[in-house]
Amino acid sequence: MKRTDSILRAALAIALGTGALLPLDAQSKDPKKDPDQIGNRDVGKGVNFYSLEKEMALGKQLAQEVEREAKLVDDPIPAEFINRLAQNLARNSDIKVPVTAKMIDSDQVNAFALPGGFLFVNTGLVMKAETEAELAGAIAHEIAHIAARHGTRQASRGQIVDIASLPLIFLGGWPGFAVRQGAGLALPLTFLKFSRGFEQEADLLGLQYLYKAGYDPTAFIDFFERIEALEKKKPGTASELFRSHPKTATRIQYAQTNVQELLQQQPQYVVTTSEFIEVKRQLERNMGRRKAAPSNTGPTLRRSTSLSYS
Ligand SMILES: [Zn+2]
Repeated sequence: MKRTDSILRAALAIALGTGALLPLDAQSKDPKKDPDQIGNRDVGKGVNFYSLEKEMALGKQLAQEVEREAKLVDDPIPAEFINRLAQNLARNSDIKVPVTAKMIDSDQVNAFALPGGFLFVNTGLVMKAETEAELAGAIAHEIAHIAARHGTRQASRGQIVDIASLPLIFLGGWPGFAVRQGAGLALPLTFLKFSRGFEQEADLLGLQYLYKAGYDPTAFIDFFERIEALEKKKPGTASELFRSHPKTATRIQYAQTNVQELLQQQPQYVVTTSEFIEVKRQLERNMGRRKAAPSNTGPTLRRSTSLSYS
């Protein structure tokens, strides 16, 4: 009897999330809309068949797959910069897992977050950002997906709880998609292509993280407007995944409302830094070098690049 009770209670807790057990008055003000509560609110609650540990293990497995298939930027200047930027945003977020951020050498505008704290940002996205705040806005959105555990929550929705079948899913039994065009990199779409509700939530939370880290939150809006314009001019500039985000007009309106209603105007914001400018210059130099040399000397070139900074 007792055992059945505890199993039932555990099942209920999983199904409802702990929030459902709070008294009504404690829920009246949505903590997700209160930036003062960042770090003290459980934004990741909801139906989830994955423990945080399992989620981190899954993310690690998927991240290894990405690193095997994609070409990462190993130049320490941009590589360390992107990781520092992500750590700073993570410190100002609700995230409960350690974060790692790596740069993928690809011209296409894209950034994505794997469950459990693994972030990837394409050089194309860094180059298209005019300020550090813009880049930070895109990363803050991805950090919000991780903090709110969107990947595993989405996978839990409508999925039969059959833990034994999970490894098969990761081995490609699931409809995959190419993160990097032509690279043949397939990742389970479930963990990356989110519902409209989750996208909107990531925008809501990401804006608050951007703001709390001291950046101008309106940079987030500027950046998506520019990417949309670029995409119209040259279709394919942004990845399929990046474009699957909410329609820009609705998104901008929502972000503007949130900036006005939730965030207090600060006397000063970080817009850009000399570090960011240097990172873009460095990426440009690396691209120039690559273009100047025949493609089959790639590995030699990469070695000489890293040597010049050691
Ligand atoms: Zn998103």
